[in-house]
Amino acid sequence: MRLEKVQEVCLRRGIIFPSAEIYGSVAGFYEWGPIGFSIKKKFIEAWRDFFIKPYGFYEIEGSLVLPEKVFEASGHLKGFVDPITQCENCKTIHRADHLIEECTKMFVEGKSEEELTEIIREKGLKCPRCGGNLSEVRMFNLMLKTEISPVGGIPAYLRPETAQNIFTSFSRIFKAMRGKLPFGIAQIGKSFRNEISPRRFLIRLREFHQAEIEVFFDPDNPECPFFHEVEEKDIPLLTREAQKEGKEASMINVKEAVETGLIPNEWLGFFLAKEFEFYTKLGIPPECLRFRHMLPEETPHYSKGNFDLEIKFDFGWKEVVGNAYRTDYDLRRHSEFSKKDLSVDVNGKKVLPHVVEPSFGIDRTILAVLLFSFREKGYDRDWNWMKLPNFLAPFHAAVFPLVSKDGLPEKAREIFEVLKKELEVFYDEKGSIGKRYARADEIGIPACVTIDYQTMEDETVTIRDRDTKQQKRVKIEKLVEEIRKIISY
Ligand SMILES: [Zn+2]
Repeated sequence: MRLEKVQEVCLRRGIIFPSAEIYGSVAGFYEWGPIGFSIKKKFIEAWRDFFIKPYGFYEIEGSLVLPEKVFEASGHLKGFVDPITQCENCKTIHRADHLIEECTKMFVEGKSEEELTEIIREKGLKCPRCGGNLSEVRMFNLMLKTEISPVGGIPAYLRPETAQNIFTSFSRIFKAMRGKLPFGIAQIGKSFRNEISPRRFLIRLREFHQAEIEVFFDPDNPECPFFHEVEEKDIPLLTREAQKEGKEASMINVKEAVETGLIPNEWLGFFLAKEFEFYTKLGIPPECLRFRHMLPEETPHYSKGNFDLEIKFDFGWKEVVGNAYRTDYDLRRHSEFSKKDLSVDVNGKKVLPHVVEPSFGIDRTILAVLLFSFREKGYDRDWNWMKLPNFLAPFHAAVFPLVSKDGLPEKAREIFEVLKKELEVFYDEKGSIGKRYARADEIGIPACVTIDYQTMEDETVTIRDRDTKQQKRVKIEKLVEEIRKIISY
């Protein structure tokens, strides 16, 4: 399977690997090594360029630890739970809903503890590990709890999403930035969930990176000023009807979908269209993308429309972006619990803004990019390689002396020092040149620069293109320009 192969590359090349490995590590926590971190940084920059900068949204960095009150108001304390059941024999804890879905193909989202217990009893389900009896189902809160202060600890939680900082700070940010509706606030940062069974590498993590945007708007004036950018676009939408009938997603025009009420407003339509474009740019084939309209039983009571962007992995469709029309739920709840008026003034009228939220899972998305760019040994060369989108490549170019003698390494170092000032480059002189090309290809470096005997005579080097394996000879003085050409495809 592709996932295991990519995971092996990630481990061996130190791209992404388990945290605290020398102590055996805990599931659901990963470290991003130099190559992985470089890819992630570039992904975040690309995301910012695509979703934030052109639209004048503001970005914040909120704290990771928040007091209990916040989650009482947000509903996480009560509602952010998963149903679990424990094997009475081997003591393994299972997600009750997943276990039922896997064993019976029944869809049980939104069912109560009692209902789930009944299904387990009725269907005679046993522990998949050892065949033991399963306990009654109970709800488990997914937030990671902590305590602040050494005496009489104040209960607090690691945030389970970045959104809550934005809602609790909305008023101050709106005033400070002299805001006007519609008003967008974004946050990129870590969130934490005490997942019962973290699995599939970066798909289900306990500590993960999110990028969220909250757009606040007047419900009496829900127009999106950028909607004209996307109104001609079609997106793959899996409607509720299609899901019931077991059909696939179909391409639907965004403007039409908003007009017919399938998508509840222009803001949501705008984000869905932008996301489809962005994920295609990341190298995910369009046929492996779809927006699934969440079924009524999966949709929170306050939401007026949830659409998940899902990617088709080898192991099934998985959500990578959650899109929700959260109405005024969050601001209203925080107003009630904090006793602060969070409404804003719109031409003398008091308005509690409504919110549309796209919420991106960065780790999952990068995993998808790695999986879809992975080319297995034998595809067109004798080694694995990554056809990464060049704007995400960990280095722009690698620099190699052909052999490590006759002054070639010195010349190569000299060129490396010059390139380093303008580009992100990697130097390697160990092993045969073929092996070095293979190592560079494996982490998706788009260009390899080789210094050979001819370089010493005429100040030219070869540039090899990762995708075509073609080499061409260029003057050293033109090198930066040539590499820029390759990485700007
Ligand atoms: Zn068991």
